[in-house]
Amino acid sequence: MTMTDQSRDAKPAAIDKERLRQKYLAERNKRLRPDGNDQYLQIKGQLAHYLDDPYTPRTERAPKTDHVTFAFIGGGFAGLATAARLTEIGVKDVRIVEKGGDFGGTWYWNRYPGAQCDTASMVYMPLLEETGHMPSEKYAHAPEILAHCQRIGKHFGLYDNALFHTEVVSLDWDEGQSRWRIRTNRGDAFTAQYVGIGTGPLHVPKLPGIAGIENFAGHSFHTSRWDYDYTGGSPQGAPMDRLADKRVGIIGTGATSVQCVPHLARACKELYVFQRTPSSVDVRGNAPIDPNWFAGIATPGWQQRWLENFTANQAGGSAEEDLVQDGWTDLSKRIRAKIMVLPHEQRTVENMRAAFEDSDFEKMEEIRNRIDTIVRDRETARNLKAWYGQLCKRPCFHDSYLQAFNTPGTHLVDTDGKGVERIAEKGIVVAGREYELDCIIYASGFEVGTEYRRRAGFDLTGRDGVKLSDYWGEGMRTKHGIHVHGFPNVFFVQPTQGANLISNVPHNLTEAARTIALMVGHARDNGFTQIEVSKEAESRWVELLLTGVGRMIGGPDCTPGYYNNEGREPGPAAKLNVGHPAGALAYFKYIEGWRSSGQFEGVQFR
Ligand code: NDP
Repeated sequence: MTMTDQSRDAKPAAIDKERLRQKYLAERNKRLRPDGNDQYLQIKGQLAHYLDDPYTPRTERAPKTDHVTFAFIGGGFAGLATAARLTEIGVKDVRIVEKGGDFGGTWYWNRYPGAQCDTASMVYMPLLEETGHMPSEKYAHAPEILAHCQRIGKHFGLYDNALFHTEVVSLDWDEGQSRWRIRTNRGDAFTAQYVGIGTGPLHVPKLPGIAGIENFAGHSFHTSRWDYDYTGGSPQGAPMDRLADKRVGIIGTGATSVQCVPHLARACKELYVFQRTPSSVDVRGNAPIDPNWFAGIATPGWQQRWLENFTANQAGGSAEEDLVQDGWTDLSKRIRAKIMVLPHEQRTVENMRAAFEDSDFEKMEEIRNRIDTIVRDRETARNLKAWYGQLCKRPCFHDSYLQAFNTPGTHLVDTDGKGVERIAEKGIVVAGREYELDCIIYASGFEVGTEYRRRAGFDLTGRDGVKLSDYWGEGMRTKHGIHVHGFPNVFFVQPTQGANLISNVPHNLTEAARTIALMVGHARDNGFTQIEVSKEAESRWVELLLTGVGRMIGGPDCTPGYYNNEGREPGPAAKLNVGHPAGALAYFKYIEGWRSSGQFEGVQFR
């Protein structure tokens, strides 16, 4: 009996852990490639049109040569949350510089059909309480999240000063003036006393480096630049009525593909889903939010309570109640339950790792068994099964992705871990067979492991001409993930070296926003012009980070992907891509204490 046959049984047999370990390893080894991240194409030159903004026309404007108190690079959640907190303390001239045509960041670009948040809206969408918005669904769809970004922009008056369709090209510290000199690709040359950086981890689309990609004669686009002119329909969910006579291929089966495939399956004459590695797809359980229920719980401070509860359930806490109740909190609760039954002296790191593995095996067996209950074609069902730990790749949650493969005209083309062989003039070739297509959609993700400067598009030149790329040559060094010694008045707004709460990235950002606004207010009220972490405090923080157990997601034994540097030895710098050693909950408690002490330990005001 094969493992697949066993998993179809109504009552699955006890998990054979050794067999699963072997299976996981074999599947991983099949996918390891010597070229790692270099397998992907940087979008430039002849391919540059894949980056064009299909959503907003670019408007001409005069270059800016003025001065602002605070410039923020990036108009997504990081910039919006930081700017909001700054305006609350009276800093009115915050200038957000954004490469898209509006606020929204990832939600500006990702308008593919079916896009929605994967973390519950109540904790995912920032500043709900401040803006008085009730999310319409447990997992809001992209148009609502984009509209919320615009709502934050309007509510806090951020539009007047914003520069859209603008990319920063250089940031230079002027010690004499205690300010940053900022240049952009639109000819701007302005100054700012403070700079915030929130360019996001996944904002540069990449293409798979498949032989012949430039030869395809049909239409093609990347999911983050959805071409509704070609497909018909709209991000709001209007059916893509121009695909009824089209043969469409989609390359990639990550979180993006999982969300848009059901919509493509409904719309296309023929849909071919080209798969290299299946995603784990757990239950979604989306539902509208009942305004009466919301009115009952939305008492002052509600969103902070929800955030803390989600983190406590998810990242090292022991909350009695689980307000969110979803796939993120489920795995953590299972692990905790296994640890709590152990006598105190047996709660060792080794036993914790074993509890983690046991819970993960159980969870993944459930996820694999679910496929057999939904997908009718046996071979397709078998090929959709993910053979790796749930946190090896981004976990997915969906209630119509698997079902889409029962739609007539929708075909899974599994490449047995090898990927698409070649792209020809008329279509895609896998294992020697050519699939003729009118359109190829690249759901091939975003650059992650590439150099920071390449992704950001600029470097920072700090005190004494030191470049950030050199200072971080052997890895990121910060305090709290926010401050870097030698780069006064710059604040990074992102999760790494802070809470590093991956299941709810915006929570990291809103906490950083609070911290930054408090420091800027303190400097202003006390006549200081510079804020900078001391070298010693930065080193102490980095040493503290290195005392942790390391990353729990995407370990070296995992199937390749952007969580583990495509399975290649990530080098010593990767050790620094971690969060607080005691977990996200501990970090949030710590930073709250750090802020409220009023001492700003390790940070110097001059
Ligand atoms: P991913 O990087 O997760 O997926 C890229 C896909 O392309 C993978 O399935 C990959 O296969 C496949 N691929 C690459 N090269 C080839 C090839 N040569 N042949 C066939 N397939 C290939 O990108 P996504 O855009 O799906 O997601 C990126 C991230 O964005 C997510 O992990 C998540 O963090 C975020 N996201 C969040 C969402 C949300 O919160 N709602 C929704 C969507 C995305 P392989 O796995 O083998 O490498």
